[in-house]
Amino acid sequence: MLLEVRDLRVEFATRDGVVRAVDGVSYAVDAGETLAVLGESGSGKSVAAQAVMGILETPPGRITSGEVRFQGRDLLTLGAEERRRVRGERMAMIFQDALSALNPVLPVGYQLAEMYRVHRGAPRREARERAVELMDRVRIPAARERAGDYPHQFSGGMRQRIMIAMALALEPELIIADEPTTALDVTVQAQVMDLLDELRREYRMGLILITHDLGVVADVADRIAVMYAGRVVEHAPVRRLFAAPAHPYTRGLLASIPRLDRRGRELAAIRGLPPNLLSVPSGCPFHPRCPLARAVCRAERPPLHPVAEGRSSACHFWKEILGDGDHHDRRAHR
Ligand code: SF4
Repeated sequence: MLLEVRDLRVEFATRDGVVRAVDGVSYAVDAGETLAVLGESGSGKSVAAQAVMGILETPPGRITSGEVRFQGRDLLTLGAEERRRVRGERMAMIFQDALSALNPVLPVGYQLAEMYRVHRGAPRREARERAVELMDRVRIPAARERAGDYPHQFSGGMRQRIMIAMALALEPELIIADEPTTALDVTVQAQVMDLLDELRREYRMGLILITHDLGVVADVADRIAVMYAGRVVEHAPVRRLFAAPAHPYTRGLLASIPRLDRRGRELAAIRGLPPNLLSVPSGCPFHPRCPLARAVCRAERPPLHPVAEGRSSACHFWKEILGDGDHHDRRAHR
C-alpha cells in the first residue's frame, strides 16, 4: 500500500475548548489509485490531509495519535528535515486557490524551473526547457510564450493547470488535491479533473481527492471515504456506494445531487447543519439530522462496521439500509 492512515487524531486548542477535528480516521490509497475523501466543511477532511502532508499548523493544531504510513514508514516519527524531503519530492499537494499558492511576483515558468534547479540541480537552460515541456503537458496553450507571464495573467482554470504542473514536476508518488476545482465553473472543472485523472494514470500516482462535491468524484474515484464530524462514516468502492449507500448521510448526499437517471424527481437536501465540533452530539454525531435515528443512536456511537468486502459503514442500522437499498433496486427493476 502506498499510503495508509491509521486512527489519526488531530485536536485544535481554541479559546472555547478543545476541538477534535479529526477523531480516529483511517484510510488508504495505493499506487495508481484515486481515493476521494468527501465531506461538508468542518468534517475534518482537509485537516486530516494537512496532517498527512505534514503542513498542519502546530499550534493551534496537534496530532494526538495515529500513524501515517507512506510506503511502510510512519511519517509521524520522522525528523523535520526528512519529513520536508518526503513532502517536497515524493508527495505533492494541489490547493483550491492557485492564486495564493503560487508566488504572485514571479513568472510561472520561472517558478516551475526553480523546482528542477533546486531539487534536481538542473542547469538554468535545461530547467527552463523542462518547465515549458511541463506547461505544454498540462495543456497551457502557447506554453513557451506564456512561461514569462505572472500568475494573475492566467484564467482560473489555467492557473489550476499550472498548480498541477508544479505538483507533478518532481514526479511524486502521491498527490493530495484539496478541492482542486471548487473555484472553477463546471466546464473548466470537468477539464481539470480529466487532466488530473489522465496524469494520475500516466504517472501511476496515488491520488487523494478531497472534495465536498460527490458529483465531481463519480467518474474519477476508485473508492470514497465519506467523513462527518471528524470521522469516516462510510468507506466503499465508488460504484457500490452510488448503487447502494450504507449510511444515511451518504444517502442524503446522493439524493441531493442531480442525476440523469432520476430526472423529474425532486432533489432533497439533508436537513439541519453539520455539528459544532465543540459540542458534538452524543452517540452517533449524525443523529440530529438523520431521518432513521432511534433511541440507541443518541446513546451509542456506532463503530465503523465492515459491511462487505472493502466496504464499511458507521451506522447501527446498516443492514436495514442495505436491505432497503436492495428492495428499492428490485422494485426499480420490475
Ligand atoms: Fe442515523 Fe442512527 Fe445510523 Fe446514526 S446510527 S446514521 S443516527 S440510523
